[in-house]
Amino acid sequence: MEAPGEFNSGASVAQRRISARVGAIEESATLAVAARAAAMRAAGAPVIGFGAGEPDFPTPDHIVEAAARACADARYHRYTPNAGLPELREAIAEKTKRDSGLDVSPHQVLVTNGGKQAVFQALATLLDPGDEVLLPAPYWVTYPEAVRLAGAEPVVVPTGPESGYRVGVADLEAARTERTRLLVFASPSNPTGAVYPPEEVEAIGRWAVEHDVWVLTDEIYEHLVYGDARFVSMPAVVPDLADRCVVANAVSKTYAMTGWRVGWMIAPLDVTTAAANLQSHLTSNVGNVAQAAALAAIEGPQDSVGEMRSAFDRRRRLVHGLLSAIPGIECPEPHGAFYVLPSIEGLFGRDFGGRRPASSFELAEVLLDVAQVAVVPGEPFGAPACARLSYAMSDADIQEGVARIAAAVEAAEE
Ligand code: PLP
Repeated sequence: MEAPGEFNSGASVAQRRISARVGAIEESATLAVAARAAAMRAAGAPVIGFGAGEPDFPTPDHIVEAAARACADARYHRYTPNAGLPELREAIAEKTKRDSGLDVSPHQVLVTNGGKQAVFQALATLLDPGDEVLLPAPYWVTYPEAVRLAGAEPVVVPTGPESGYRVGVADLEAARTERTRLLVFASPSNPTGAVYPPEEVEAIGRWAVEHDVWVLTDEIYEHLVYGDARFVSMPAVVPDLADRCVVANAVSKTYAMTGWRVGWMIAPLDVTTAAANLQSHLTSNVGNVAQAAALAAIEGPQDSVGEMRSAFDRRRRLVHGLLSAIPGIECPEPHGAFYVLPSIEGLFGRDFGGRRPASSFELAEVLLDVAQVAVVPGEPFGAPACARLSYAMSDADIQEGVARIAAAVEAAEE
């Protein structure tokens, strides 16, 4: 496979099939693992999948009922305004005040097809070729691809378990150049589960203001924090950042609505207007019925959010305890989202029935074949010593899946 930037090099126009820009995109590793596990399951194998980054709960009834009512109402069979239903943009602005303490106008809100389009569109709207984007690693797989698609360059800022997988101002400052345009900030984080304490969020926000660096803050896991961890929104704790900050969010994870595809970005008015222009030629608007469902989610009773969080918290403690007991695996405790990112380096080179995996990619393959357990390899997250496991699944499957990993590891010779 050619390295990004080399795709198509030397090919004539007639020979070329895929553009260099799109040809350089890697398949989403999370979706690839989920697809392989699903195919094995369809063929009858009892695969346990720790791959999928989505709640296993159904969408709460009152949301589904609101969507059903919208389905039966011809008003919802049409396009909506490009930037979203006005009542939904209003509700998102109110929800942002309610949950983050951040004052925004509905005109700053652009409703997108999931948080993913919010991230993509924000980056496409803000970045030019030659711009550098600071990307604390481990990072969500989509960020570097979306940065490159915008013509800019991701600059990885590594973090490790010793800092709780959190980046500090000194790390950011060491990576900053005169080309630094933007920082991608995610707390709680996918894949690490790290949650930045309020004072660290504030320090990073102040650093960004001081150096005129834009911040894209991905707040999709805002409600999934556990123990003493607390979510704060960077522009709420650093109001001076508001003019250089884009918030990305979605109903996907909070309300078990990954399939409905509703997210949003909140930005300064000129950025929202420009991003809406882009969206008008890309997807027009988010499905009308899905927007009605998102409105019910945001405005309706919030009890299900706490109930799901409690279940995730219980599973978090379960998976962390079980993985930590396996010799060769180091598992830092996650404090948010629904992922663990254990180091599995200690297992590289061991003999799993004649196969000696030397990387996270290879170990994930071996675990799928030997233990029929799907984990996501760490390489695409910028964490090659680790694997990511989602614990958005039943307690019984967590127990069975980790027991299978433990048995495979125990049988593997050093
Ligand atoms: N941001 C992060 C950190 C994520 O983990 C995800 C999904 O996995 C998204 C954004 C996008 O979510 P969606 O497009 O499903 O709303």
